[in-house]
Amino acid sequence: MTPFKSIDIYNIPLKPEHELLRKTIRKFSEEKLEPVWRDIEVQDKIPEDIYDEIIDLGLFSIGIPEKYGGQGGDQISKIIVIEELSRIIPSLGVILDTTDFPILSLILWGSEEQKKTFLTDIAKGNPAAGAYTEPQAGSWVAGIQTTAERRGNYYLLNGRKIFISTIDYAKYIVVLARTSPPNSSKLHEGMSLFIVERDAPGLKIGSKLNIMGMRGDRPYELIFEDAKIPADNLIGREGEGYYYTMILLNFTRINIAAQALGIAQRAFEKAMDYALQREAFGKKIYQFEGLSFKISDMFTRIQASRLLTYWAANISEEQFKHPEKALPEVALAGSAAKVFATETAEYCAREAVQIHGGSGVDFETGIERYLRDSVITTIYEGTNEIQRYIIARFLPRIVYGTKVKIG
Ligand SMILES: Cc1cc2nc3c(=O)[nH]c(=O)nc-3n(C[C@H](O)[C@H](O)[C@H](O)COP(=O)(O)OP(=O)(O)OC[C@H]3O[C@@H](n4cnc5c(N)ncnc54)[C@H](O)[C@@H]3O)c2cc1C
Repeated sequence: MTPFKSIDIYNIPLKPEHELLRKTIRKFSEEKLEPVWRDIEVQDKIPEDIYDEIIDLGLFSIGIPEKYGGQGGDQISKIIVIEELSRIIPSLGVILDTTDFPILSLILWGSEEQKKTFLTDIAKGNPAAGAYTEPQAGSWVAGIQTTAERRGNYYLLNGRKIFISTIDYAKYIVVLARTSPPNSSKLHEGMSLFIVERDAPGLKIGSKLNIMGMRGDRPYELIFEDAKIPADNLIGREGEGYYYTMILLNFTRINIAAQALGIAQRAFEKAMDYALQREAFGKKIYQFEGLSFKISDMFTRIQASRLLTYWAANISEEQFKHPEKALPEVALAGSAAKVFATETAEYCAREAVQIHGGSGVDFETGIERYLRDSVITTIYEGTNEIQRYIIARFLPRIVYGTKVKIG
C-alpha cells in the first residue's frame, strides 16, 4: 500500500450525525444564503442577519470541546460545514477556515487558562484569524521578519503581515513572529505564536486588498508598531512557532479542499441543470457528446475530491495525539486533497462557464464568480506548487526512510 502500511487507512467513519449536520447546513444555505449571493458580491460583506444566524447555528464553535462552550465535533464535521457553506458563499468557508487556525493552536498547545479565555469566547461567535504571511515571505514562511521582543510580562511586536483574511470579523489573530534573531543556517528556528486581540495597542489595520474573488471576506495588511501583547498570550513554547504553523497548515489546507469541493459541486449542479434545459440545433445541449463528457469529467473529479478530502480529514485526527511533531501521513493526505480538490474546482468552474456560453460570463447568472473564487483556492494555505513540494519531500521519507532534497 505504498506509502501506507495497510488499507485500514482508507476507513472513513461517517455517522448519521454527519448526514444530519450536512442536511441542516444545506437547508440553511439554500434558504438564507442563495437569496443574498448577489448582495454579498456587490457589497463585499456578509449581511448582519446572516452572520447572526451563523452564530446561532453555532458554526464558529464546531471542533471546540463542549467544556469550553463549543459543540465538539470531529474534523469531518468541520469539512462538511465548510463544503456546504462554500457551495453558495465560498467566503464563509474562509471565515471558518481562518477561525480554525486559532482554535487548533489553542487545542493543541494552549494553556488551560488560554483555552478558558479564548476558546470560550470564539465559541460564542467571535471569529479569529491567522497571520503568518509577510510581504517578502509567503510560501517561504521561514523568511518572516516580524519580531516579538520580551519586555518583562509582555512582548512588543513589530513588523508587517499581508493578505490576512477575516479581519472584518475577527476578534483575535494568531500571529507568527520571531522571538530570537534569525540564524542564517536555520531560519525556521526562533519563531513563536501569539494570540493577539484585534484592537491591541500598536496593531494597525492597513489597506484592504482588492483581490479577484471571495467577496464577503477580502484580506488586509496588518502593521505592528510596538504592539504590546501580554506574555501570557504566547501559545505553547517559545521558539516552536514555525513547527506549530506547519502542523496547523496541515489541518487547515484540508478546509480549503472542502471549500473548493463546495465550489466544484455547485458549478457542476449549475452546469448540468443548464445543459439539460438549453437547446441548440434543435437538441438539448446535453445531447452533444463534447458537452456531456465535460459533465462526466466534472462528476468523476468531484467524487474523487470528496473522498480525498474526507479521507484527509479523518487521518488528521491522529495529529491531536501527537501535538509535538508533524505527522507525515497528515501532511501527505492534506496536500493531496488540497491539490486535487482545488484544481477540480478550477476545472469545474471553467467548464461551467463554457457550458453556459455567453451567460456564463455574465455576472447576473452567478457562474463566473466560481471561477474567480476557485483560482484563489489554488493559492492560499500553501500554493499548489508547495503542496506538490510537500508530497515529493515526504514520500521518500515514508517509503525509504531517506531524505531527498527537493528544489
Ligand atoms: C485571498 C487570500 C487570502 C489569504 N489569507 C491569508 C491569511 O489569512 N493569513 C496568512 O498568513 N496568509 C494568507 N494568505 C497568503 C497566502 O498564504 C500566500 O499568498 C501564499 O502562501 C503564497 O505566498 P506568496 O503570495 O508570497 O507567493 P510566493 O511565495 O512569492 O510564490 C510565488 C510563486 O512561486 C511559487 N513558489 C514559491 N516557492 C516555491 C517552491 N519552493 N517550489 C515551487 N514553486 C514555488 C509559488 O507556488 C507561486 O506560484 C492569503 C492569500 C490570499 C490570496
